[in-house]
Amino acid sequence: MTRKLGGGSLVIATHNAGKLKEISALLDPYGMKCISAGSLGLPEPVETGKTFVENALIKARAAAQASGLPALADDSGLAVDALDGRPGVYTADWAERQWFEGEPGRDWYMAMGKVEGSLQQMGPDVERGAAFHCVLALAWPDGDHAVFEGQCPGSLTWPPRGELGFGYDPVFVPNGYAKTFAEIEPSEKHRISHRADAFAKLVSDQFGV
Ligand code: IMP
Repeated sequence: MTRKLGGGSLVIATHNAGKLKEISALLDPYGMKCISAGSLGLPEPVETGKTFVENALIKARAAAQASGLPALADDSGLAVDALDGRPGVYTADWAERQWFEGEPGRDWYMAMGKVEGSLQQMGPDVERGAAFHCVLALAWPDGDHAVFEGQCPGSLTWPPRGELGFGYDPVFVPNGYAKTFAEIEPSEKHRISHRADAFAKLVSDQFGV
């Protein structure tokens, strides 16, 4: 049986203010006081894992050990069936561009183009199935841990469509929909997304709802 949080402080292993706000709002009703790893001055570990689970655990364990409190981390990305799951844990890396001015930046259009280019090289009948994945890892300072995996299956379209969302949303059509994630209202996306799936599993396991 999984160990339970049962309220109290929880470190969210992210330096991203948006993620902290979203996760805090989801866990607040269960009596969890969320604190960001950034506000505690915890260093960000290098994500050396080969899977979403490994990377989420690296982040959660580092935050739990450094803070002495239970910690929650997430890792997410896009896995394309015909590309054997790539870009996978390298989803954000595929968008990395070294600008001439020397400032690294992320170019999502380029990243979506890389995925599409790889698919088109495989011929016109290539299988276009893909899924967004989200792994949530909970770690306690004594090393105990729990992992919750969420998925949103769909397929890839080209060219990109829609202005909502972020990252690879404009090329991802979730199963059962004709619209891309970037054309679907955010409230609807949040109901069906890989993150919603992972959080539902965490909340059910930890808080019994
Ligand atoms: P991380 O989990 O914050 O490392 O995110 C990995 C990358 O996956 C992000 O930079 C996004 O490009 C991509 N990603 C994760 N979730 C979504 C989503 O809901 N829509 C579009 N892209 C996503």
